[in-house]
Amino acid sequence: MASIVIVGGGVAGLTCAWHLRRAGHDVEVLEGAPEPGGRLRTESRGDYALECGARSVASGHRNWHSVVLALGLGDRAYALPRSRSAVLRDGALHSADLTAPLELLTTTLLSVRARARLPRLALEVLAHARVLDPLRPERAAALDGEDLADGVRRTLGEENLEYLLAPAFASRFGSAPEDLSWAFALLALRLRAQGFREESLRGGLGGVTRALARRVPVRTSCEVVSIETETDGARVRYRARGRPGSAIADAVVAAVPGSEVVRLCPKLTPSERGFFEEVRYARGIVAHLLLEKAPAALPWSGVAFPRREGLDLNGLIVDHHRMGAAPPGAGLVSAVLDPGASARMWQAPDAEVGALVVDRLARTPIGTLAPRECVVHRWPAMLPQFGVGHLPRLSRFLTRMDRSPRLAFAGDYLIGPYVEAAVASGMRAASEIARGL
Ligand SMILES: Cc1cc2nc3c(=O)[nH]c(=O)nc-3n(C[C@H](O)[C@H](O)[C@H](O)COP(=O)(O)OP(=O)(O)OC[C@H]3O[C@@H](n4cnc5c(N)ncnc54)[C@H](O)[C@@H]3O)c2cc1C
Repeated sequence: MASIVIVGGGVAGLTCAWHLRRAGHDVEVLEGAPEPGGRLRTESRGDYALECGARSVASGHRNWHSVVLALGLGDRAYALPRSRSAVLRDGALHSADLTAPLELLTTTLLSVRARARLPRLALEVLAHARVLDPLRPERAAALDGEDLADGVRRTLGEENLEYLLAPAFASRFGSAPEDLSWAFALLALRLRAQGFREESLRGGLGGVTRALARRVPVRTSCEVVSIETETDGARVRYRARGRPGSAIADAVVAAVPGSEVVRLCPKLTPSERGFFEEVRYARGIVAHLLLEKAPAALPWSGVAFPRREGLDLNGLIVDHHRMGAAPPGAGLVSAVLDPGASARMWQAPDAEVGALVVDRLARTPIGTLAPRECVVHRWPAMLPQFGVGHLPRLSRFLTRMDRSPRLAFAGDYLIGPYVEAAVASGMRAASEIARGL
């Protein structure tokens, strides 16, 4: 039995710790925040349940499902209602959803000419299907030389970029199409093609991180300041409730955002340092509006706002369709600010963020909302950016010869910006560290 410290109690770190514990190892998770869960937590606000971070998974996410079943939470899983998402164009909302490709052929969002080009997207995914493995994205490294904006312009034209693909990716991944690669877009579309029925859990997705955290020892409010590993052991230094401390272990798993790793691990090998110095995240602000009454003008699951509409928002997620998210008849929506507005409003009081969101939504057919409360979350590392060049760098990192001893890494940035990827990365880190001991 080995002693293993897992730094970071998000779903990747908790999954990793739980797998190692089930394999008989002595584990401890050190989490900087007062609560475990990271970007997968459900927070109660009176009768409302807010998803802080991820709000849905998909039917094809097999690693997630295996964890949910093993935790005995299978009976809580349910499919979200099949309502479509919409896109704003010239002041009107149009039904347009990438998960419903046939309906896209008749959407009023796009001109006939733009719609006629859409089948090329499916052809492009099919043409590269051999290397498009969403859980092994590095296999698509050779495709990664063009950004999403250029890739869409080349295959589908400007209108499809500005009104369909850019809003869909910005509202889901928090990044402009220039900051994501075309190869990443093809991987994301391939993942959707593998089975994309959106799902959630009764009580919220955070039920999974809570259940995991009950099965492994987690020390919260424990901010790790350095991780040093040698061939014969590892030392982790931290500050817990303001006091310094340290832990000695046989091995460590760093399950923090990739952009934190260089700061925490001074002894990385050159290949590791080179990789982690280039890991980037989109930061963003999400404002949850708690409403007495669900707005009638919102039959959608979400609304995306193209940047040309100039609204300061990437999208609006309609959360009251989820079971138990809001009291019966009440509404809950979450607005995601675009990168420019997030930067501008980063230090602004929450009330100002709420006022900006209400003002911008009032300029759309959604109309004036009067939230009884607005809860604002600021995410310095919201979602990892799979920009041009990330996949070749990832491929080199995964096959590197120079490896820090007794140190493994977990987190969504190693596979994709979604829960399934974080879970898979945690499982892989557990196998890697156990093999190496
Ligand atoms: C607003 C938003 C919406 C999203 N929507 C979806 C969605 O609908 N579907 C989906 O599949 N995915 C979604 N995601 C992505 C998903 O939440 C993440 O991919 C996943 O939760 C990442 O898990 P992780 O464990 O890799 O990272 P994290 O959850 O970030 O975990 C890292 C942990 O490390 C801790 N930490 C950092 N530094 C230290 C330190 N020095 N010492 C100790 N602890 C430290 C952090 O506090 C955190 O708990 C969304 C994310 C956000 C933010």
